[in-house]
This record gives sequence, structure tokens and C-alpha cells, in this order.
Amino acid sequence: MKIMANRMDRGFFRYQKEFEDKALEVLRSGWYVLGNEVKNFEEEFAAYTGGGYCVGLASGLDALWIAFRVLGIGPGDEVIVQGNTYIASVMGITMNGATPVFVEPDEYFNIDTAKIEEKITERTKAILVVHLYGQASKMDTVAELAEKYNLRLVEDCAQSHGACFQGRMTGTFGDVGCFSFYPSKNIGAFGDGGAVVVKDKKLAEDFRIFRNYGSEKRYYNKLVGANSRLDELQAGLLRIRLKHVRECEEERCRIAKRYLDEVKNPKLKLPQVRAGATAVWHQFVIRSSVREELISYLNEREIGTIIHYPIPPHLSEAYGYLGCQKGAFPITERYADEVLSLPMYNGMTDEEQTFVIEALNQF
Ligand SMILES: *Cc1c(COP(=O)(O)O)cnc(C)c1O
Repeated sequence: MKIMANRMDRGFFRYQKEFEDKALEVLRSGWYVLGNEVKNFEEEFAAYTGGGYCVGLASGLDALWIAFRVLGIGPGDEVIVQGNTYIASVMGITMNGATPVFVEPDEYFNIDTAKIEEKITERTKAILVVHLYGQASKMDTVAELAEKYNLRLVEDCAQSHGACFQGRMTGTFGDVGCFSFYPSKNIGAFGDGGAVVVKDKKLAEDFRIFRNYGSEKRYYNKLVGANSRLDELQAGLLRIRLKHVRECEEERCRIAKRYLDEVKNPKLKLPQVRAGATAVWHQFVIRSSVREELISYLNEREIGTIIHYPIPPHLSEAYGYLGCQKGAFPITERYADEVLSLPMYNGMTDEEQTFVIEALNQF
């Protein structure tokens, strides 16, 4: 049995008719950018996250960099972020000329909140929290620190649609919640897409203006903005994803629970969920000190896995200019050497998962 790390086709075919009908409806409407689908999606997504305003954008990276831009964070400013993240989190900071200040992760792969305070300087302007792999970070402590030091709080929710901390959804704790709808995310478009969720009406307006060349009214440009619009087709298709999001979340939780209950091998360290937090299992990430051996063993059995992520941003070629040395962030680097994402997708069958679990237990 060949098992891939992800199967986006399964998530499409389950709701095929609805997606196809919506696609035709949008194509036939004659209106393709900033219309009713985007407006409705923004309202529905804001309601899903628990209130506030949603502004649709072209990608998750755009949500991040435009967030820092709109918040006025730029050259000379420092933003605190965890070291073990997808590089887009860091690019959202540096695209504005601001400097990322890395903090080590905790045992849940989220920012270690006990290590934030020592990194705060007079230049610190914001904390960027990444709810990595779909698990909510320890937001009570982060929110307290942001308040105490008068810092902006931005959340990277590209992997955490629906994950909560103490009952409140990620993306609603800080000034801006940044979402991606890249096809492989838990709420995935059929192309690129992103959004921000904000509580402040004026801030939402700033995003609306910025995404459309800095104009509120056509051809009257108030500022130098960007073209970062979620299109009608993606918004329409995302509305269908949103309609079924709960059942998809529940399915991922059931798959995760089986892995947690049934994988028993001392060579593998399973993920844990923090008290007070929920996980939506964007990835199911295990750790192993014999990862390379494990990957080739699974490959022989045609079981696909992915490493999220093999090179931490501070050691990537792109961020060589920051001058970080290997060994600067030992926990981040150890995770990069040990993490492995098991197959996890909507539509994974019991039979497929049994095959993976048995292989893991025999390793
Ligand atoms: C996917 C992802 C992004 C970027 O989203 P895009 O839509 O691909 O631009 C940012 N941060 C994290 C943590 C991600 O997983």
C-alpha cells in the first residue's frame, strides 16, 4: 500500500459537487476580484474565529508582512519570534526591514514563553507567535508580556485554523491574526490565499486600503500599498471549506488520537498537547534521534513523510546576513534534526493508518 504524507485530492473529492458548482457560479458571474464571495467569506471567517473583522489577502506571507507594515514596524525595530518556524514567519518581519529576535521553542514546538522576557530590549516592538503544527501557543503568558511591555502582538495562524487556547481561537489574542489558505493548510484554497483577523475596525480598514494599491476609492491612492487581494474564485471555494471545517477538524483529531494511542516504539517521541490548548493537527510531528534511518525504513514500505523543517531560518542561506552561528539555538536545531511529520490528511482511511502504525511499531 502506497501512502503519501498528504493527499489533497481526498479533501476535494469529498465535496466535489459543491466545489464544482461554486466554481461554475463564480466563472459565470462575470465578477472575479473583490466582490460578494470575498465579502461573504470575510464575514463568515470572522464569525468562525469568534468575532472581529477579516480582510482577505493573496497569501499567508502577505498577511504577515502587511501586518507589520500596517502596524508601523520597520527598520531599527525588533520582533520576537520562535526559532523553529516556517521561514515565511521571519520573512514577514524582515520584508519590512525589521530584525527578528529568535527565542527557543518549548516541548510543544511553540515559543517558550519563559524565554521571551530576556530578549526584550528598548527596540522590541512586537511578538510574533506561531501556532506551529496546529497547536495553540501559551497565549495567557504571551498576552501578559505584550501588555506589560506595550508590544504589538501578531499571531501566525497559517497552521492553526480553529485551534484554541482556553477556549479562545488562535488569531484573536493579539492585534492581528494572520492566516494562510495555501492548498495544504487546514482550510485550503485551490491556489494561494490568505487573510487577517483583527478586532479593531480602523485597523481592518488599513488592511483593506493597503491590499488594493492603497486606495479606498478607485484611482484615489492614499498610500503606497500592494496588490494583495483574495480573488472571488478562491473566496467562493473557501466558503465551502469553511462550511465543512468542523467535520474536517474532528477527523484530524480522530487520526491524531489513533497515532497517540497506538504508536508504541521507544525510538519515537510522540507530540503532546498543552493543558488549556487544543490542536487541529495541521501536522502530526514525532521526534526521533534515528530519523534518517526511520525515513528510509518507511520509504521502503512506500510510506511518505516530510520534515517540517530541516533548516531553521537562522541557519538558512537567506538569513546568513543575520550572522547566527550553528549552535546558537540548540533546541531549535535539535528539533530540525529530529522532527518528522507522519501522514495526516482528511480522507485518510483506517486501513491506511493501520498500515502506518504497524510499520512504526515494527521499526
Ligand atoms: C504556510 C505558512 C506561511 C505562509 O503562507 P503562504 O500562504 O504560503 O504565503 C506562514 N507561516 C507559516 C507557519 C506557514 O505554515
